[in-house]
Order: sequence, then C-alpha cells, then structure tokens
Amino acid sequence: MLSTGTLYTVSAPSGAGKTSLVKAVVDAVDNLLVSVSHTTRAQRPGEVDGINYHFVDRTQFEQMVENGDFLEHAQVFTNAYGTSKNWVLETLGAGKDVILEIDWQGAHQVRQLIPSAVSLFILPPSRETLRQRLTGRGQDNDSVIDARMAEAESEMSHYGEADYLIVNDNFNVALNEFRAIIIANRLTLEKQRLRHQSLLNNLLS
Ligand code: GDP
Ligand code: ADP
Ligand code: 5GP
Repeated sequence: MLSTGTLYTVSAPSGAGKTSLVKAVVDAVDNLLVSVSHTTRAQRPGEVDGINYHFVDRTQFEQMVENGDFLEHAQVFTNAYGTSKNWVLETLGAGKDVILEIDWQGAHQVRQLIPSAVSLFILPPSRETLRQRLTGRGQDNDSVIDARMAEAESEMSHYGEADYLIVNDNFNVALNEFRAIIIANRLTLEKQRLRHQSLLNNLLS
C-alpha cells in the first residue's frame, strides 16, 4: 500500500525567510511540493500569478469560501489567504509531502483538521535582522514594513504551538535543519513499514 504524504505547515513572521527556505527545501528534496495559496494581496514586483500565489479579488475569494474550496483560510494583515483543499488532498493522496506556508491561525486550523500534520516555526536571529530582511527584500514600502514589524511580534508569540523550531541565522544551516525534519519524518516506523512491506515480508518469512 502506498503511504500517504505528510502535510507540513511552516509559519514565521514576515521576513524571517520562510519563502526562501521553503523554495530551497523543495528544490533539495524529491517528492515534496509547496501549495500555492489564494490571496487578495496585491501582486509584488517579480511575483507570478499561479506560481507564488493565485491572486484573486475579494469577491472571488468569498465565493471560494462559500464553495468550501479552502482547507483553511485566514485574514493576515489586511488581506485574506487560503489553501486549496483539493490540490492538497490529492497531492498527499498521491504519496507526496506537501508544505503549506501559512500563518499561525491557518496552522491551528490544519492541526484540528489533520492531526498528523507536522508544524514548523521559523524565527529570525534578532529583531534588527528581521527589519533588515524586510527592507532588503525591497518589495514593500516603509508603512507596510512598519505594519509587518508590529505584526511580527504577535505572529512570533505563537512559536510554542509548533512541533519544530528553526532559527534562520545562517541560511544553509537552517536549510539543512529543515531537510533533516522532512527526512526524519519519512523514516518513522509507521511510514517505513508501509514503504518496505515486501522487504519486511521477505526478511521475516
Ligand atoms: P511574506 O510572508 O512577507 O512574504 O508575505 P505574504 O503576503 O506572502 O504572507 C503574509 C502572511 O500570510 C504570512 O504569515 C503567510 O504565512 C500567510 N499566508 C500565506 N498564504 C496563506 C494561506 O493560504 N493561509 C493562511 N492562513 N495564511 C497564509
Ligand atoms: P518571508 O517569506 O518569511 O517573508 P523571505 O524568504 O522573503 O521571508 O526572506 C526575507 C528576506 O531575507 C529575503 O530578501 C531573503 O533573501 C532574506 N533572507 C532569508 N533568509 C536569510 C538568511 N539566513 N540570511 C540572510 N538573508 C536571508
Ligand atoms: P503544474 O502546472 O506543473 O501542474 O503545477 C505547478 C505548481 O503549481 C505545482 O507544483 C503546485 O505547487 C501548483 N499548483 C497547481 N495547481 C494548483 C492548485 O489547484 N492549487 C494549488 N494550491 N497549487 C497548485
């Protein structure tokens, strides 16, 4: 029997490096995909519709909520974000691991719905670094950055709800830690038993 994939949630304050780390880990590990959320947020320069997000307006978003299209959805800052239920369930069903880059409210909803989901929290090495990264990314204006710094503290206060905590100081160290979590979760007895059923039968017959 094919083992179903593991669902991961990754939460962090804006600017902690969540998107960069998730992209790098998806590139480095096979059979691991990231879900593309729907959002009402304005598209940033360089972002591509359907790759970074599915960009929709409020009316479309609310219609999707009404249709039950979202596994979870939440209001973050002034925008709405939601995870496609069908895509996530189909991809997990095909045996692939899925990462959701979602805020703590979303992670909370996912934990209730799918208790086997594994949650990660990413923290910056300092407040100063967080502000520098938000500014250095060069994609939001000063008032957005001030608002995101204020929100960062409330997001970070939820770190204790996660299963794993990564401090993103040196990028490659954080990336290796992230990979280690994914690989270790693939090696649990429960998953390995399903994956290696015929080997186990052969060895123990
Ligand atoms: P960034 O994190 O600074 O790159 O800004 P974004 O606009 O991409 O994301 C803002 C927040 O929305 C982050 O906390 C994300 O984790 C969260 N977010 C993104 N997609 C989803 C989603 O589908 N559901 C939920 N609940 N939160 C999301
Ligand atoms: P988030 O998705 O959490 O908002 P990003 O992945 O967009 O964060 O990262 C914010 C900025 O910080 C980006 O410009 C990114 O290149 C940079 N960054 C991420 N991780 C590190 C790191 N370990 N060291 C230095 N810069 C980093
Ligand atoms: P492709 O076009 O190659 O099938 O998909 C490219 C990427 O888009 C996939 O890796 C996946 O992350 C994302 N994607 C495609 N369709 C959907 C969808 O319906 N919902 C979500 N959330 N992501 C999708």
